[in-house]
Amino acid sequence: MQAYVEALADLFYPQWCIACEERASDVLCRACFDALPQIGGPTCDRCGLPTAFATPVCERCKNVDFGFESARAPLRYEGVGKEIVHALKYHGYTRLVEKLAAPLLSEALRGTAPFDAVVPVPLHRARLRKRGFNQAALLARGVAGQINAGVSDTLQVVRNTRDQVELSAAERRANVAGAFVAKARTRGRLLLVDDVLTTGATLGACADALVRDGGAAEVHAVTLCRTC
Ligand SMILES: [Zn+2]
Ligand SMILES: [Zn+2]
Repeated sequence: MQAYVEALADLFYPQWCIACEERASDVLCRACFDALPQIGGPTCDRCGLPTAFATPVCERCKNVDFGFESARAPLRYEGVGKEIVHALKYHGYTRLVEKLAAPLLSEALRGTAPFDAVVPVPLHRARLRKRGFNQAALLARGVAGQINAGVSDTLQVVRNTRDQVELSAAERRANVAGAFVAKARTRGRLLLVDDVLTTGATLGACADALVRDGGAAEVHAVTLCRTC
């Protein structure tokens, strides 16, 4: 009887919320959807940090040379935002990208000029083999579909980097310096995509490679979450 009821419920609620693992009719249940840590309101125009008033550059980023022109993120890296990144990174849910992440990313880009190509931050070959997919590539494909741009897989990791979790901002920059190359020329205005922005070191090293090897005119970044 129990199994029958569950099978019936599966017909109407065919999945589980990726954040709390309760049964849900969509990728997130209503409560987790309402708890999305959305970055609404004013932000720094340069780095996307939430600020009291809209500003072209904030206190936090005014002395930082990112290597990219601007960064945007729809979510803070906390709570349900963190759960979503986790689900994406370790399970590669494509439904999550289509239904939730891609619309959030394109919403965060609203008002920006069109991009010539969307470029995912690459994973090192060994990591890609182990994981089976690159979560940044899934996000890049999702957002490219929403903004009508092509995807370019021009970036490659040429040197494996350490896990950055324990590293300071300066250590992160040193860790990723020269770790990326662009194998093909990809000119124009490019959109770099990753799952999380922390210090911007990885995105910066990727942007450097796109300008140096690829001949990009300008590089902008979008990530699903950012630390605030
Ligand atoms: Zn939930
Ligand atoms: Zn800023």
